[in-house]
Amino acid sequence: MLIDLRSDTFTKPSQGMLEAMFKANVGDDVFGEDPSINKLENECASMFGMEAALFCPSGTMTNQIAIKCHTQPGNEVICEKMSHIYIYEGGGVASNSGCQVKPIEGNRGRIQANQVLEAINAEDIHKPVTALVSVENTANRGGGSCYEMNHLQLIKELCLSHNINFHLDGARLWNALICKNESPKQYGEIFDTISICLSKGLGAPVGSVLLGKIDFIKKARRVRKVFGGGMRQAGYLGAAGLYALENNISRLETDHQHAQKIGIALSKKDFIGEILPIETNMIIFEVKGKFTATSLAELLKQHHILCIPISSTQIRMVTHLDVTPEMVERLLDLINNIN
Ligand SMILES: *Cc1c(COP(=O)(O)O)cnc(C)c1O
Repeated sequence: MLIDLRSDTFTKPSQGMLEAMFKANVGDDVFGEDPSINKLENECASMFGMEAALFCPSGTMTNQIAIKCHTQPGNEVICEKMSHIYIYEGGGVASNSGCQVKPIEGNRGRIQANQVLEAINAEDIHKPVTALVSVENTANRGGGSCYEMNHLQLIKELCLSHNINFHLDGARLWNALICKNESPKQYGEIFDTISICLSKGLGAPVGSVLLGKIDFIKKARRVRKVFGGGMRQAGYLGAAGLYALENNISRLETDHQHAQKIGIALSKKDFIGEILPIETNMIIFEVKGKFTATSLAELLKQHHILCIPISSTQIRMVTHLDVTPEMVERLLDLINNIN
């Protein structure tokens, strides 16, 4: 039995999801004629109380389309220095949009309004125009940390008063919603655009959705075509996404409980140093003493448990819907027995 804790992207479609995909009603989505995609886009938009939505092959694409539609070449994008858009999207902010990033050092991946205010450039011909603020919730490199709603509201007010757009990279927003007991509509009210992912915690094989105003999504649809992201009978994927929204959101609580249990077991070991506070489905911990991050990951691998050393001293584990309670028990046993 393999226990794959490398990421919540390693889930495979369940039987029920496969059946929904098998029965999907499809058409050519580039022509706007795929009923399953249209349904998925409408459902996502109304869930968040936003006007329109666009299904895309990846979260990288939804983020990159949003950045391109919000900016002009030479503009600046404010984000946290470990943001996915900055460190994990292949330099796309520069190559796709001709923009530069102004990275801010946050607290476990989260930035504050006063930092944003400091980072906004004054009107000055020497300085790039600040066009966009992008935040991540949950914050991946923050160990799945969640924003406080009032902090987001303060950043939103700043964006409004400075005429700057506000984007949410919500690859794991579902986890934040469950953790904080918040509703999608609260986020729809704050952000100009939101990217949500169907293929991480929700367990669909492919797909992210970009949300925004009607005119924005119209423009985004054109950019998606340019980026090569227009797909034909995408409804098979749309059906998986619809199934995921219906069946796999509330169960995220289980993933969070599993992460807590793993964290407690780790905290009792003398070869484990700092464990980032566990808020959702991620455990990022420091390895010390007799193990390095690599040697501990190697030992776990010999026991068919996979995880990722994210730095020379840190390991990341991510729980998800293909990590069963039995698997967690086996992992806990193993951790307890490593001396
Ligand atoms: C996974 C992820 C994305 C998008 O990833 P894709 O693999 O391109 O779908 C974006 N932002 C964050 C924070 C992520 O974790």
